[in-house]
Amino acid sequence: MVIVMAPSASDTDVSNVVTHIEAHGGQAFVSRGVMRTIVGVVGTEDVLETLDADGLPGVAETMRITAPYKLVSAQNHARRTTVRVGGVPIGPDTFTFIAGPCAVETPEQTVEAARMAKRAGATLLRGGAYKPRTSPYAFQGLGVDGLRILAEVRDEVQLPVVTEVTDANDVDVVSQYADMLQIGTRNMQNFALLQAVGAAGKPVMLKRGLTATYEEWLMAAEYIAQRGNLDIVLCERGIRSFEPSIRNLLDVSAVAMVQRLSHLPVIVDPSHAAGRRDLVVPLARAGIAAGADGVMVDVHPHPETALCDGAQALFGEALDELARAVTTIPPLLGRTSAAHLAG
Ligand code: PEP
Ligand code: MN
Repeated sequence: MVIVMAPSASDTDVSNVVTHIEAHGGQAFVSRGVMRTIVGVVGTEDVLETLDADGLPGVAETMRITAPYKLVSAQNHARRTTVRVGGVPIGPDTFTFIAGPCAVETPEQTVEAARMAKRAGATLLRGGAYKPRTSPYAFQGLGVDGLRILAEVRDEVQLPVVTEVTDANDVDVVSQYADMLQIGTRNMQNFALLQAVGAAGKPVMLKRGLTATYEEWLMAAEYIAQRGNLDIVLCERGIRSFEPSIRNLLDVSAVAMVQRLSHLPVIVDPSHAAGRRDLVVPLARAGIAAGADGVMVDVHPHPETALCDGAQALFGEALDELARAVTTIPPLLGRTSAAHLAG
């Protein structure tokens, strides 16, 4: 069972709830988040049955949920959630288009990529300042300097920013600049990092681990939620397969399935799935058709000189084609497309 405290609940309200649980023979786990405090209850069926926490002062909601992930489960949620990032909605009624460079390289490259994204109709800018690279010899990102560039470009181009944080120690500094914190595939089960972003008070994009099951992915989201942050967007970015000609395999089943298991929005990243430009638009179309709540792609003004993932970055005709897909397909599925082709 999970007990969600009202934002106005006092410390005394929380300790009364704990006393109530313990008096009934249960164990209480208190997570104090920035936004709300959550009390997890562990106990036998008998214990849970006799608990009557609903009427206690400061209690907003009590939930009996059978799924192993409680706060992110679709159980007890009549409607899927809409998460807002700098005012931009990501959820079941809209379709959100996120674009930008894989990595922040220079101020000029970042502003050019952001303008490309905006012209194509994107309403959020992506870009990494901390890059988790397979090789220690590859470009690792500009760190805080990259965050400053992103913040300047956000102000200039007027697009809220999504950027990755790779280390729990950097969560504070990244939060000062970002509108949304991204957890990359390699860190999906970095539990200390998940707890730190859960406490940061910013929306989080949680990418699926490249070998993670749906349940493992949702349990990772639960770590964030348990710290009181339910502003989580899940991102399917491809899983490991035996096929060498594509980098990863975009799992479109994940979109439809996880939307049944969880109330959280689910988007797709066809760029990191394919690893090659010519597949990005077809996979984006597949993701939209499967019901994704948004798409995130890499764009770059000069992919041939990109320091990271140039082979998958869109530009020119392919980006125009993607812009058409994100504008025309979502309305067929009853969604308002946040993206509009620039005139
Ligand atoms: C990224 O989005 O820049 C990234 C590194 O993605 P992933 O974690 O999915 O590889
Ligand atoms: Mn990348």
